[in-house]
Amino acid sequence: MKKILIIHTGGTIAMMEDKETGAVQQNQQNPLLLHTDALSTIADVKVEELFQLPSPHITEKEMLLLKKQIEKSIVEDEIEGVVITHGTDTLEETAYFLDITVQSDIPIVVTGAMRSSNELGADGPYNLISAVRVATSDSAVGMGVLVVLNDEIHTAKNVTKTHTSNIATFQSPQYGPLGIVSKREITFHHMPTIRETYDIEEITKNVVLLKAYAGMDDQVLRAIRTIQPNGLVIEALGQGNLPPKMVPELRELMDSGIPVVLVSRCFNGYVQDVYNYEGGGRRLKDLGVIFSNGLNGQKARLKLLVTLEITIDHDELQEMFYK
Ligand code: ASP
Repeated sequence: MKKILIIHTGGTIAMMEDKETGAVQQNQQNPLLLHTDALSTIADVKVEELFQLPSPHITEKEMLLLKKQIEKSIVEDEIEGVVITHGTDTLEETAYFLDITVQSDIPIVVTGAMRSSNELGADGPYNLISAVRVATSDSAVGMGVLVVLNDEIHTAKNVTKTHTSNIATFQSPQYGPLGIVSKREITFHHMPTIRETYDIEEITKNVVLLKAYAGMDDQVLRAIRTIQPNGLVIEALGQGNLPPKMVPELRELMDSGIPVVLVSRCFNGYVQDVYNYEGGGRRLKDLGVIFSNGLNGQKARLKLLVTLEITIDHDELQEMFYK
């Protein structure tokens, strides 16, 4: 049997519903621990409760701790796979952070649940078993960090939470899942083409994320300049365009040494330097804005946070964001 490390971090998967009030909350005892015996028939499992946090409370600090814990267990305990249980709200962010920072090819699978442990149709125990099965699969080696829920296997890079409450919430727009979980087997039908990792020891930077909208002016950008972040990611319009009133302040921001990365608020497609009008992608590119490659805003923010630990050079950052 393969040696699998299960790390619990909290989230709905580890919560219970108060039948009187309907409120979902944490209890003293993590209900997921009740399933450890059942999992022992699939793998040689070691269970750690690293945190007991709802995922809106997860920060880069916890993500980094997880990375270090995984790398330590690979060396000290010779684990062959990792499963992380996590709240679904920021699950894709933790999964992506680990995807670009963990220096290993072993399967790392992140899972969660949309219904708490004592609700009718609770999906947590089933998702946990599926995640452990995927983590033991030889085919999952070298696939990068995977997200497994609702019988689907997704890449950390492409998956996103698309629905506030439906159990089929995790989808990979434009790409689809990498594989499926069925009663008998784990089947992969695609493979990721690129795996990029950055070996970082700490997170020392501050990167903010901003969403553009019709008629946006420079007010928020001016406020951002006063806090002097180390980087800014903007979810731009369409193929990578911004309202013209933002441009002068954007120039000021970049002149003050703050790198600006552009993604699209569309959830399919890439940003490109196409339009040659004030605020258009071509002009933004000429100004020095870095174009990303289809990542959503929250993941581009993490990528900038991580890559800024390696370099602050504009061209090197642009190269990394083309990957
Ligand atoms: N709000 C919860 C969390 O992310 C949602 C969940 O776990 O599904 O912790």
